[in-house]
Amino acid sequence: MRSNLTVYFGDSDDEIIKEYKKNISSMDTLLYRKNIKSLYAVQQIHGINHVVLDEVEDGSHVLAQEADILITNKKNIGIGVFTADCVPLLLYAPDKEVIAAVHAGWKGAVKGVAARAVDLLIENFGIGSKKLQAFIGPSIHLPCFEVGNEVIDQVKETSYERLSLYVGKEDGKTRCDLVELNIQFLLSRGCLFRNINRRESFCTVCIPTYHSSRRNGKQSMGRQISFIALK
Ligand SMILES: [Zn+2]
Repeated sequence: MRSNLTVYFGDSDDEIIKEYKKNISSMDTLLYRKNIKSLYAVQQIHGINHVVLDEVEDGSHVLAQEADILITNKKNIGIGVFTADCVPLLLYAPDKEVIAAVHAGWKGAVKGVAARAVDLLIENFGIGSKKLQAFIGPSIHLPCFEVGNEVIDQVKETSYERLSLYVGKEDGKTRCDLVELNIQFLLSRGCLFRNINRRESFCTVCIPTYHSSRRNGKQSMGRQISFIALK
C-alpha cells in the first residue's frame, strides 16, 4: 500500500521532511501488516470539536476538518492524533465496537476534551462508560511540565486543580500533571480507573527518541502519531 499522507507543521526544515518520508514508509509496512486500510487524522486546533468518520476510502488521509476528537465504528480504519508533548488519548468501547482518538494537550484538557469524547460516544453510540478502555500515549509528565500563570489560571477553573497542579518545594515552580488532569475528566464520566492504561515512564521530554516541543528549551516541529483501529 502506498501512502499519500501529507502533514503541515509550519515551516518544517529539510531534515524533518527527510525523516518524515522515512517514517511514512515504515508506517505503511505496519499498516499493511495490521490490515489497516487507511489512517485518518484531522487538523488539530486544541479544541473540543469532533469528526465522526463514517465514509472512508482506502489510502491514508489527513482530513481538512479542524477537530481534536476523531471517532469511528468502521473496521480496519486507523484514527490517530499527532502529538509532541500533548496527551494522545485513545478510547475503545468494546460493548459497541467504536473507537476515538483524542488530542488532549493542556488547552484541550482544560476545556474537557476527554470528557467530551466520552459524552459523544455515549450520545451517538450508546456505549457504557464503565466498559470503556482508555489508552494514554507518550506525553509530557509532571516533573517536566513547568507552567506559568496562563496554564495555572485555566487549570484552576476546572474542578481538578489540586490533583493536577503541584508546586515544587525546592524551586517554587508550578508543574502540571496533564495526564492526571485528563484522567480526572474521564473518571467524571464514569470511566473506571482500572480501565485507564498509562505508563508512568512515557515522558516525551525525558526520552530522546520521542518528539518533544520543550526538550532543552528547543522548539521541534516533529510529531509522533498514536493511533487505534478496530479489527
Ligand atoms: Zn519528563
